[in-house]
Amino acid sequence: MTDQNDLLFERARAVIPGGVNSPVRAFKAVGGTPRFIQRAQGAYFWDANDKRYIDYIGSWGPMILGHGHPAVVEAVQKAVLEGFSYGAPTEREIELAEAILALVPSMEMVRLVSSGTEAAMSALRLARGATGRKTIVKFEGCYHGHADALLVKAGSGLATFGNPTSAGVPPEVVQHTLVLEYNNLQQLEEAFALHGKDIACLMIEAIAGNMNFVRATPAFAKRCRELCTQHGALLIFDEVMTGFRVGLHGAQGVLGITPDLTVLGKVIGGGMPLAAFGGPRAIMEQLAPLGPVYQAGTLSGNPVATACGLATLKEISKPGFYEALAKKTRTLVDGLKAAAAAEGQPFNADSEGGMFGFFLMNELPQNYATVMTTDNAQFNALFHGLLDRGVYIAPALYEAGFVSAAHSEDDIAATIAAARDIFRKR
Ligand SMILES: *Cc1c(COP(=O)(O)O)cnc(C)c1O
Repeated sequence: MTDQNDLLFERARAVIPGGVNSPVRAFKAVGGTPRFIQRAQGAYFWDANDKRYIDYIGSWGPMILGHGHPAVVEAVQKAVLEGFSYGAPTEREIELAEAILALVPSMEMVRLVSSGTEAAMSALRLARGATGRKTIVKFEGCYHGHADALLVKAGSGLATFGNPTSAGVPPEVVQHTLVLEYNNLQQLEEAFALHGKDIACLMIEAIAGNMNFVRATPAFAKRCRELCTQHGALLIFDEVMTGFRVGLHGAQGVLGITPDLTVLGKVIGGGMPLAAFGGPRAIMEQLAPLGPVYQAGTLSGNPVATACGLATLKEISKPGFYEALAKKTRTLVDGLKAAAAAEGQPFNADSEGGMFGFFLMNELPQNYATVMTTDNAQFNALFHGLLDRGVYIAPALYEAGFVSAAHSEDDIAATIAAARDIFRKR
């Protein structure tokens, strides 16, 4: 039988760089042919060969209800009939803004945009505009989209300014970006002691999902808050992944920390291009058209995307939603740990709400460098073993996993059984 994924990949590579519109989809880290998805329903999607997979990426987070939730489909269909885009304000944008603010108490005002990259980039500009400062602090392994100033890795030595991680980003553009090690209190103290008066903001994934799954320790997160307050810098929680995913109030709810600005995306669009950033009124009113910080978007607050986001937020706000999701995710994580233990494999895993990570090592890593000590070949064997058995996890060891409300106990049990089978054959 001809593999339809191979055929599509060949066609795609002729017209799209690498055959994909976002790099991780290309399977470069794990090798093999990416699966071209035809359709999805509930916890599953089907590739071009009509093979079914239990989906643990959920479009990298947004599909928290599973695919094709009837209430969301209905809201989107209704919105489409009313028009795709107007470039003029709508009542639905107010409704979505009100819904977001009601669930994220640290935000008094919000601006809607179309992608997480755009939201993080705009929050950064706002922080610099509002403070009149240049320096920004970020952490190795945290991803905040692909804006120039944020595509940077640590330089050599402690608390130094970073080096670009992409061609096309001149060193001058990242010369104000300080890159620190995640969970390293000493470096954090040093950075603020040296540069505190110049720091506009500290941006962090407080539960990091772009270096697999690594939590900021409570002490570290608390110290970020204290140092920002003490030095007049803004604390920005990038909750594009964790917002409405680790809990109804995001990582800030889990940690009990109030950031100045919050960046949202993924779940708030329910699978449509929608993201947001927000915070206190006095800061948000620095944005155009009221203030001097410019930001705009032709499709911002798109009527179809806002309908999708609103319907999604309505479902996840129902009582007990996160308790059930967290329990299911915990069952998966505990089951995988037990399967690895039974087969004598080094393994550990963690989860919060509907987000999880697992590691082919006994300790839970505290930073990016430790995550990257994972044995690539072992991870790739596990990835392809699961894929063959109809389980689709992220095709890179530094990505988190996602469980949706549509995953059944049988799906979870089948996933654990597949993993155990692979561990046994090691
Ligand atoms: C996905 C992600 C982004 C970028 O969002 P896009 O919609 O892909 O541009 C930014 N920050 C975090 C934490 C993310 O997980």
